Amino acid sequence: MNATWTMYDWFAGSVAEHGDRRTALEVAGEHLTYAALDAAAHRLAGELVAEHGGVPSRVGLLAARSTTAYAGYLAVQRLGATVVPLNPAFPASRNATIARDARLDLVIAEESAPGHAEMPVPVLRVSAERMAGLCTGPVPTLPKSAAGPDDLAYILFTSGSTGRPKGVPITHRNVSAFLGHVIPRYELGPGARVSQTFDLTFDPSVYDMFAAWGSGATLVVPGKRELLSPVRFVNRRRITHWNSVPSVASIALRLRALEPGSMPTLRWSLFCGEALTVTHAEAWRAAAPHATLENTYGPTEMTVTWTEFRLPARTEDWPRPSNGTVPIGTPYPGQEHLVVDEAGRPAQEGELCVRGSQRFPGYLDPADNAGRFFSFDEERDGERDGGRARPYDGSEPLTSRHWYRTGDRVTTADGVLVHLGRLDHQLKIRGYRVELGEIESALLAQPGVTEAVVVALHGPDGETGLAAAYTGSVQDTEVLLERLGERLPAYMVPGSITALDALPLNANGKVDRGVLAAMLVTEKPSAAA
Ligand code: AMP
Repeated sequence: MNATWTMYDWFAGSVAEHGDRRTALEVAGEHLTYAALDAAAHRLAGELVAEHGGVPSRVGLLAARSTTAYAGYLAVQRLGATVVPLNPAFPASRNATIARDARLDLVIAEESAPGHAEMPVPVLRVSAERMAGLCTGPVPTLPKSAAGPDDLAYILFTSGSTGRPKGVPITHRNVSAFLGHVIPRYELGPGARVSQTFDLTFDPSVYDMFAAWGSGATLVVPGKRELLSPVRFVNRRRITHWNSVPSVASIALRLRALEPGSMPTLRWSLFCGEALTVTHAEAWRAAAPHATLENTYGPTEMTVTWTEFRLPARTEDWPRPSNGTVPIGTPYPGQEHLVVDEAGRPAQEGELCVRGSQRFPGYLDPADNAGRFFSFDEERDGERDGGRARPYDGSEPLTSRHWYRTGDRVTTADGVLVHLGRLDHQLKIRGYRVELGEIESALLAQPGVTEAVVVALHGPDGETGLAAAYTGSVQDTEVLLERLGERLPAYMVPGSITALDALPLNANGKVDRGVLAAMLVTEKPSAAA
């Protein structure tokens, strides 16, 4: 029914229905009704058109947890353009690289966000005063949006193993397939108060914003400090729908801020973005005993989340896979999945491969598609037996028949999928997606470094840390860390960097990452040269 809506259509339906009668957004002490937020978005869209000299096609958004961030997101959507969120907490050089690679026409930037000067494209600077001005006054008449369901709604950049962030474009059709499922499932609608814990550069924020605005609910944005005490935030702001990475629960548990019964009014608790351990799920359930608790899973490429597992009401009935995680469950209706072994044959345990209406249309740089998809020669009417999986090499157009390889290792137990880990060197740090190859590239680019390897170290409390080792001439560790910090977000900068005479190798002559990790746990970071 809503398959052909654009992202803006989802919001506009609630504007028409609720106007000034319902609050759409609570952020930084401001409360905006649906009509007020729409008017602010229209005024900002008018400024974008004036600044660009016409309707832009791709617009960056360098803003976070402010009216500008949300009105800016909607302004771009209202114009039918593609939004590319940039993160004010990331290094300016990374945001500039993304602006260039995404071929942005211009960027909406909060005055207070760093990195305006480095932007390679025009910047529409929005100070707090200017945004306050955009919240009143006449609403401009804007050209009709030309966006259709197969146009790009947003592009997100994730860590790239080759050393550059990788652009993942998502269409309006992808988003509508997602929203059409989650809004009714989580009983979203007027009266619901939805948390907004995720950065706009992380796609679960699309759930926060558009599941709320597509249903007439209120989006409630915590400040950075409020995010550290979820229980206080939920109670003070009367949150009904919580969604976050499990790390938020784990940090709260460690700080002893997740007391049993402490969130009695929460109705829905969703977790996504990284493995949810049974221990953390139990602690959260005890704190919010009246909330339905779900683990959801999905790569950015499959539009936010794409599988769901609802934990039974009684903890005694919970499944307990041997790896201690909550299952990721089953795919959303209408989405297709396969589990294949290394040879591409259907298997009980192996790589999760997916397709369906939430699958992205291929990476922004088509060169990134090679090896990430496959098809079957003999696939007819859903019949794949005997079919040979043919890896995608980029020589033909990518179609909806192609399966996307998630790189996630799964098994099926009692009819549900259990996540077992990754088949590559991608991992999650507090929910952030990290390719070790990107950090290694950044380290290799430093003078004097000949070889570089980064490994993940798992602390006793389940926290994941990063440790780097390199060969070459011994460098000043502080200088190396500072240079990495100029290129990489803080969560990607290793906790230690160790100079070695040689990297440990396995029998095949490859770097033995297991041995290296064991060495780096005990090794002290190299002394400054
Ligand atoms: P991102 O593209 O940042 O959303 O990261 C997607 C990756 O995060 C997936 O491919 C998984 O490796 C991991 N992931 C996301 N959700 C879960 C989950 N519920 N359980 C385990 N891993 C997850």
